[in-house]
Amino acid sequence: MVKKKFILLLGFIAIINSCLSQDSIPGFIRISGKLPQLAYSTGEDRLGSAKMGYIDTNIVLRVLDTVKNLYKLQLSTSRYAFIEKIYTQPYADTILKPALAESWRVKGDDKVDSVSISLTGKVAYKSWMEINPAKIKIELYNVQCNTNWITQLKSAKAVKNVWYEQTESDVLQITIELIKQQHYGYSIGYNGRSLLLKIKRQPAVADIRKLTIAIDAGHGGTNTGASGVTSGILEKNYTLLFAKELQKILKQQKVKVLMVRNDDTTIDNKDRVLWAQQNNPDLFISFHLNSSGRSTARGVSTYYKHVAYRSFTQSLLNRLLQIKNLEEFGNVGSFNFTPIQPTEFPSSLVEVAFLSNTADEKMILDQKFRYKVAYQVYLGIKDWIKQWK
Ligand SMILES: [Zn+2]
Repeated sequence: MVKKKFILLLGFIAIINSCLSQDSIPGFIRISGKLPQLAYSTGEDRLGSAKMGYIDTNIVLRVLDTVKNLYKLQLSTSRYAFIEKIYTQPYADTILKPALAESWRVKGDDKVDSVSISLTGKVAYKSWMEINPAKIKIELYNVQCNTNWITQLKSAKAVKNVWYEQTESDVLQITIELIKQQHYGYSIGYNGRSLLLKIKRQPAVADIRKLTIAIDAGHGGTNTGASGVTSGILEKNYTLLFAKELQKILKQQKVKVLMVRNDDTTIDNKDRVLWAQQNNPDLFISFHLNSSGRSTARGVSTYYKHVAYRSFTQSLLNRLLQIKNLEEFGNVGSFNFTPIQPTEFPSSLVEVAFLSNTADEKMILDQKFRYKVAYQVYLGIKDWIKQWK
């Protein structure tokens, strides 16, 4: 009798458990929230899983699984991606039909070129930049091609050519070939049901005075960053000093400067991205100071996310390495750091030196060194502009 009751109880618990686990996975979600992004993996380190890119809101996707704070989403028959649950809203069960890609239009206005792809529904996408030759590529998921014409107008000044390839039965790959070889930035998102790309043009005159440069002093407010190994100085205060040195030099050179912060305020990294996307600078430079558990680690490093912007970070590093006693820590690519994720403008993270190394820390404390770093960054920007192709 007891045994029977026990088995019944176990069965009851199993039923409840299976209901609960089914409840925790919605059939479909709608993408929502501030700056949602898709990720390739569930990998967790201090920078989070490797990003596929930002994605627009109100796209409906099927949920395949749930892993901790992530949903595994089906993009197309054979593709999937992960998204943090905070970027989703449950969506009433439905059947997702593939969208059709219809006519396209390529044109320009007085500032940017645009490529508009008409679709019968909003679908997930991924975009990236290629170099040599310069191309922007887009993959549209759960899409079948019904594009019967692509109109290309002479007002387009940055785009050389566009074409598509249905690479899988429900994946459409789009190629936008550019005239200039140095990528200068683009945005991607929905305008109604059309996917709209806005492609920036390289300025006609290669002159630093024609640019607007955004300077980001890392950390700030309650986010203090690393601290000096002997002095205890805080990273947030010294990133601002480097940023202000560069601001002074650029202003003297009649360059338009935008500062992410001018004082000791807390700004979330996502808000830095949203701010930059709104203010639309030509270049974005983020100052940080490095730190390592290994006290011998030292030197300067520059970082990029997109290979299209590598040349910019190399120009900065080459000039910074001219500073006496500043060693090379390296040029680092595919860096999974939020402020340099946007495709909208070339960007570089500059980790000036290590607060955890006594020799580097001594330099950071020296105003002459901070000026020198800012001046070399200024020269690096000028070098990069000179090599535009
Ligand atoms: Zn930092």
